[in-house]
Amino acid sequence: ALMITDECINCDVCEPECPNEAISMGEEFYQIEHSKCTECVGHFDEPQCVQLCPVACIPVNPAHVESREMLMQKYLRLTAAA
Ligand code: SF4
Ligand code: SF4
Repeated sequence: ALMITDECINCDVCEPECPNEAISMGEEFYQIEHSKCTECVGHFDEPQCVQLCPVACIPVNPAHVESREMLMQKYLRLTAAA
């Protein structure tokens, strides 16, 4: 999963583009719910939020490093639950 750092300027661009609705406004800046972020695996070739973010503040969440296979499993779980 990816994460949003405190460099986020709350530009609102990424939130509507997340295919998993993993992005929401936090207390001070946007945040990513790691259990919903597949790094866009299953939906797009590249993470949409990273593509769009004007300040490049969306790195991999070091507490939730996942392989492509794990991300694909998450995608399948999320779409099965939907
Ligand atoms: Fe959403 Fe994709 Fe960004 Fe994860 S990488 S937060 S799934 S847009
Ligand atoms: Fe923050 Fe980047 Fe999302 Fe804009 S696109 S709200 S700067 S994380």
